[in-house]
Amino acid sequence: MNVDLNQMPFEKCSCGCPYWKERTVIKKVSALQAAMSEDQYYPVAYLACENCGKPHLPTTKIDVPMAAGKK
Ligand SMILES: [Zn+2]
Repeated sequence: MNVDLNQMPFEKCSCGCPYWKERTVIKKVSALQAAMSEDQYYPVAYLACENCGKPHLPTTKIDVPMAAGKK
């Protein structure tokens, strides 16, 4: 990468907050669906706004609950 990050803008949430925290959701695949003997669990990490909890969609690989993190 040949860019000076100090020259780049901060990525902000639509609420204006520039801080993000890593959150994790877990996808469950039931033994029945996967035709396996045990349920399978897949943790998926994504970044969410520290202020409003909205996921950072461009870097979030799966659909996560939009209300996650709301207090
Ligand atoms: Zn936000």
